[in-house]
Amino acid sequence: MSFLLQIIVGLILSSLIGFLAYWRGSLTRSGAAGAVIIGTVIFGFGGWAWGLTLIAFFVTSSLLSHYKESTKENLAEKFAKGHRRDLGQALANGGAGALIAVLYAVRPDPLLAAAFAGAMATVNADTWATELGVLARKPPRLITSGRPAEVGTSGAVSVPGMLASVAGASTIGIALVILLRLECVVRWSPMYALLNPCPFELALLPGALIGGLIGSLFDSLLGATVQAIYYCPTCKKETEKTRHSCGTLTQQMRGWQWLNNDMVNFISSLVGALVGAVFHILSMAV
Ligand SMILES: [Zn+2]
Repeated sequence: MSFLLQIIVGLILSSLIGFLAYWRGSLTRSGAAGAVIIGTVIFGFGGWAWGLTLIAFFVTSSLLSHYKESTKENLAEKFAKGHRRDLGQALANGGAGALIAVLYAVRPDPLLAAAFAGAMATVNADTWATELGVLARKPPRLITSGRPAEVGTSGAVSVPGMLASVAGASTIGIALVILLRLECVVRWSPMYALLNPCPFELALLPGALIGGLIGSLFDSLLGATVQAIYYCPTCKKETEKTRHSCGTLTQQMRGWQWLNNDMVNFISSLVGALVGAVFHILSMAV
């Protein structure tokens, strides 16, 4: 399939999904625009296996956001007022994947597929951990000091949350491996695909699993240390937002001002990409 055709199909598919997500309340208007851009780039330059992996992330995250929604709203301030993702969040989650897809169009190296797996595994692991970890019975603990923290605190982790990370990261790895194999079957033939296993594809699995886990732990580490954290004087609560969900402008408490939650997600997905790439290099060496 030529790039142009792939881009057009990607645009149509992403627009459809973006519109549905906006209509269902998973994305804001700008978030839907961001999803269309990211989807078109990943589908157009990475191919449909990459594009469908992005969709797997998107669909499972949206479903998990709606899972036990009212319980989560009561548990943690982070989940108040629904969970509509905006442009910043769309770019933070899919930006690294889209950049890697552009590089892949220039130079289709399997190393970049491994980096893509690590990046997407990280954002999926992080989303699953956030959406499911919040439902854990025991309070989470700060990744730095191990002290118990309030549910939804940046940088706090829990065992159920980490298990959700592992599941989220593996899901991306498994989806990408199966889809790449299917792509091979469609492009060549079932016989060819069976007789020519690509060793690099299998390395995507540990790369996605470990990359996603390390990436999402890095996310928590930044959240507990240098991420900008604010304080709402009205509710007397910590928050990641410059304007609290109650409407009050918050005051910065700690962290670097430029390092907001979206930047943390983006940087963590780059770390996941790096780990994925390292696994690829290791798999080529053995
Ligand atoms: Zn407030």
